[in-house]
This record gives sequence, C-alpha cells and structure tokens, in this order.
Amino acid sequence: MTLTEKILARASGKPWVRPGDNVWVNVDVLMTHDVCGPGTIGVFKREFGQNAKVWDRKKVVIIPDHYIFTADGMCNRNVDILRDFVNEQGIEYFYDIIDDPKGQWKFDTVKGDFTRQFGKHYSGVCHSTLAQRGHNRPGEVLFGTDSHTCQSGAFNQFATGIGNTDAGFIMGTGKLLIKVPETMRFFLEGELPKGVSGKDVILHLIGEIGFDGATYRAMQFEGPGVGSLSMDDRMTITNMAIEAGGKNGIFTCDQKTLDYVNARVAENGTKSTFEPVEPDADQQLFYDKAFDLSKLEPTVACHPDPGQRKLAKELGHIALDRAYIGSCTGGKTSDFLAFAEVVKGKTVKIDTFGVPSTTLVLDELKATKWEGKSVWNILVDAGVRMTENPGCAACLGGPVDTFGRVNKAGIKCISATNRNFPGRMGHKESQVFLASPYTVAASALTGKITDPREFIC
Ligand code: SF4
Repeated sequence: MTLTEKILARASGKPWVRPGDNVWVNVDVLMTHDVCGPGTIGVFKREFGQNAKVWDRKKVVIIPDHYIFTADGMCNRNVDILRDFVNEQGIEYFYDIIDDPKGQWKFDTVKGDFTRQFGKHYSGVCHSTLAQRGHNRPGEVLFGTDSHTCQSGAFNQFATGIGNTDAGFIMGTGKLLIKVPETMRFFLEGELPKGVSGKDVILHLIGEIGFDGATYRAMQFEGPGVGSLSMDDRMTITNMAIEAGGKNGIFTCDQKTLDYVNARVAENGTKSTFEPVEPDADQQLFYDKAFDLSKLEPTVACHPDPGQRKLAKELGHIALDRAYIGSCTGGKTSDFLAFAEVVKGKTVKIDTFGVPSTTLVLDELKATKWEGKSVWNILVDAGVRMTENPGCAACLGGPVDTFGRVNKAGIKCISATNRNFPGRMGHKESQVFLASPYTVAASALTGKITDPREFIC
C-alpha cells in the first residue's frame, strides 16, 4: 500500500484498502476556522440537536485567522460565534483573538494594521498553527474546513479539506466516509540549488501535471531528495497539492519530521503518541516520475491559474505594481528570512506588503538579529509594509479593508501565496503571479518579475 492507503486502512480498522474503496475512517483531528466554523456549528446543531456535544472536545481545533483584522461587523461576529461554541462545549484548543472568554471581538480601526491587536491565545493562520502548536502527527487523519488542509501531509499525515456538512458530521460522530484516492508518486532526487525553494518545487510539479493533474489523487513525495528539504519546504509543497486538484499531499517520515513533531507536542502539551507509515515496496501507483531538485530554477505561476508555469528569468518583461509575502504557504519565518536576504540594505520599488503567518513568526522576526538589526527592521527599512497582526490577510482577498488587498482593476501583483485564480486577492480584474519569497523579493526591488539569483548568487 501507499502512504495514504496505509493511513486510511488503519483509520478504518481494515488490513488493507484499495483506490476506489469507500471506507469509514476514525478522525484524529478536526480543524475549523472563522469562515467555515459558524456554518459547521450550524450543521452540527441542526443534525445532532441544540444540546448535542462534540464527539471529542480534545480533537476539535478552532483557529480564527481569515477575516479577523477588519471593521466588518459580520466578520467580527463570526469569531464571537466560535467563542460561544468553545465555551459551551469545553473545547480545549481555541486560538482566540481576545483574552476574555466572555468578551466580543472588535477590530480597532484607530490602532489599524500596524499595531498588534491580539491577546495571548491568538496564533494566526490555521495550517501554520496546526504545525507549530503540536496538532500535526505522523500516521494520523486530519480533516479541516479549508482546502489547504493538505499542508499537514508534510508530517506524514493524511490531511484534506472538507465542507461544512462533512465537518458537522465529524463533530457529532468522529467519523467520515471517504473514497480512497489513487496515488501519484513524485520521486525527489538531488538537492535544491541556492535561491530555489520548496515553492519552486511545487510550482514546477503543478506546471508538469496541470492545475487539475492530480484531481482526487494523493500526491506522495518520497526519494533521497526529501531529506534535504526542510519541514518548512515540505509544508509549502504539500500545501499546494490542492492547486493540482490533489485530495492530499503526503511526505515520508524521517528524523526531521520526528524532531519537529516531538518538539511541538512537548512544547504545547498535545498528544505525543503516533505511529508513522512507510510505503510498501510493492505499492501500486497511478503515476510515478523522478525529479532532480538540483535542476530546478526560480519558477512562477502566471495569471490566471497555478498551472501556468514559466521560469522567472523568462518574465522580465512583466512590470508589476505590487509584491506580497505572507500566508500559510509563504509567511513562515524561513520565508521572511529568504525575502530579507534579498532586500537587506536595499529599497523596494513597488508597494510591498508583508504578513507573518503566525504570532510565533512575528516574534521570531523581531528576535532574529543580523549584524545587530532585527530582521523585522531590515524589512521595514527596505520599505516593506509589515503588519503586526498575523493572519490570512489578502491571500484570499477578504473584506475591502483587508491589509494588502488588491482593490483596483489592472494591478499586477507577485505573491508568495498559493492561489491565483481571477479575484483571489481582491479585484477580479487584477492579476496574481505566484512565486517563492526569493523571487517576490527580487521582483519587489526591480518592479518587474526577476530571477532572484541576480541578487543572491
Ligand atoms: S493564508 Fe491563504 S491559503 Fe492559507 S489558510 Fe489563509 S486564506 Fe487559506
């Protein structure tokens, strides 16, 4: 069996499963956020009763992150609905924006985006939070009401996005009926060259198979090249499995995985037992191809979808209006460090926005010093507009007052985020080009799409 088949077999109590089988799996973690949480709660109450209790209050993780820093009262109210539900149910893991469990969230427009507005429990983007706060464990099954839930597959976990109806059902039962996907293997060899990152890997692979090339299939990453990839790179890669239509993305487990997971579960006091899976030697694959990481170059997905692959060096004729670094895909500490490596001591030429994915990233950027200056200040001094409020921000557009949102037609934005269908970051007549933090940084400096190796090699 493949990695995905092994996890689904174990979770459904079967000795083996095959692609196409429909199996009831026991769920280890259910994640929801402020956009889908209220709807999920509504389904749960409608189907299981107003006084129903969730199947396991330690397995539901609720993370407000999407439409948080906005004056839109309906969005603010969504966070209050989550808090009421958490209080009612005694849910253990809730990363609330405010400290008062009886309070109400209201974005302070006077403080705005540049002054932090969160309490001590807040974390930020859901997928990054799952990893950093010890909710990702090898061999487990994680569902989330968000399409990029597949990011958690970096940890040898079966993780996929679901709708509110399925999530409401899981809340009541702890189970879900799922069709076992076929597996596509991406066998990675070699090591990434300087200036090339996990984002370039996944943009290359999506370009290879097309933005629907893995529809309802597991994208399995294995091979000797995996060991050279950091956990952050692996997260970036699995995060975008959905951009090829994948049901899930999943990596083999190695010592890096175990070190990361063991440290996070110990720090956060989350469940510490788990059992990784390995693929069988005779696993059946729908697709199998080797990729040499050392041959990859800075890659861009052009408007209007993540499959429009080009090399950054071919796109110097495209003038840009905006650059953006942030999100679960591109807002990790390592992403900002890569970005800062390029812009350090220089000044960006176009509007450039930076959004840390989590409060931990914010703290790390302020604490990390290069030649006596914090990376945060290096970015600010280079002209990057850095918000102190981590979250999804303009990755998916959001309400019109969202930090970094593209509000005008015709704007061309290069972004470290993961999706660029029309309207994704705001105006439906804007254009988004997806690239690595290195490439976004180099392009911010020149005002046109730029191969970052011009600055760092
Ligand atoms: S940062 Fe973007 S892709 Fe990630 S969860 Fe938020 S909206 Fe989705």
